Amino acid sequence: MWGFFAHQRINRLAVFTLPVEMIGFYKHNIQYITENAVNPDRRRYAVEGEAPRHFIDVDIYGDSAVYKMPRYWTEAVEKYSEDTLQAYGIVPWHIYFMKLRLTDAMRIKDAAAILRLSADLGHYIGDANVPLHTTENYNGQLTDQYGIHGFWESRLPELFSDDYDFFVGKAEYIENPQLRAWEAVVQAHEALDSVLWLEKKLSKHLSADKKYSFETRGQSTIRVYSREYSEEYHQMLDGMVERQMLSAIKMVGDFWYTCWVDAGQPDMDELIDFEFSEEELEKRREELMEWKKKKYESREHEG
Ligand SMILES: [Zn+2]
Repeated sequence: MWGFFAHQRINRLAVFTLPVEMIGFYKHNIQYITENAVNPDRRRYAVEGEAPRHFIDVDIYGDSAVYKMPRYWTEAVEKYSEDTLQAYGIVPWHIYFMKLRLTDAMRIKDAAAILRLSADLGHYIGDANVPLHTTENYNGQLTDQYGIHGFWESRLPELFSDDYDFFVGKAEYIENPQLRAWEAVVQAHEALDSVLWLEKKLSKHLSADKKYSFETRGQSTIRVYSREYSEEYHQMLDGMVERQMLSAIKMVGDFWYTCWVDAGQPDMDELIDFEFSEEELEKRREELMEWKKKKYESREHEG
């Protein structure tokens, strides 16, 4: 997870990439989309199967695995087994799975599910753009850099993201969402070496007493990476945190938009002040199942 702060900012800013047909509904619910950006992390320890959805330790699969691993779930399961995939994280596949669910929610115009799934999808996309979410060494524990995870994804955005230029343009349709999810993992993983070795380099230059400082939060005093140390590191990263956050924002907008297009461009304005009753939604779910079954059957016949 990015820190709460960054996740919330990513979801919030993604709303502004949306086209006019969608932005009304999302703006109306922007507080929900923002606040619930961190829901998946909240249920991480309570819901079985939640934890692996946030990362993928691609390096355990061997040299250059990030370029060579099967992109599609069934092929990956065949190659590595589901147990192995679950053990080392499934974020790129889970993004695709959530994409399908959000598309379905839009097809039946289930406003509550659209909001919940949009917020969740934004979270997982955010995670896929964090370099330390693509490695076994996710908290620097293997390289004596313990704590670097929160340093990179929470402390740095909290200190510096007010100065970022978050203009990312308009959401665009994604031809292949499954491959797009993998592109994010590749990009994040390619940044990983710099994340680690730059901090290593910096820690050798600055003495330990300059590395940390203490901050009071409420009743307690906690040790944090000092401002000076954070500034140095942020400088050395040369815009990386900003780039990754921007990528995440754009990608979240692109995914929401793609779901909407694939759902047949439902009228979202209709949903702003309106929610179907539970019975109506149940009926719509059944219709969707029926429609999918027919589509599947007709494909079988074609084949
Ligand atoms: Zn997370």
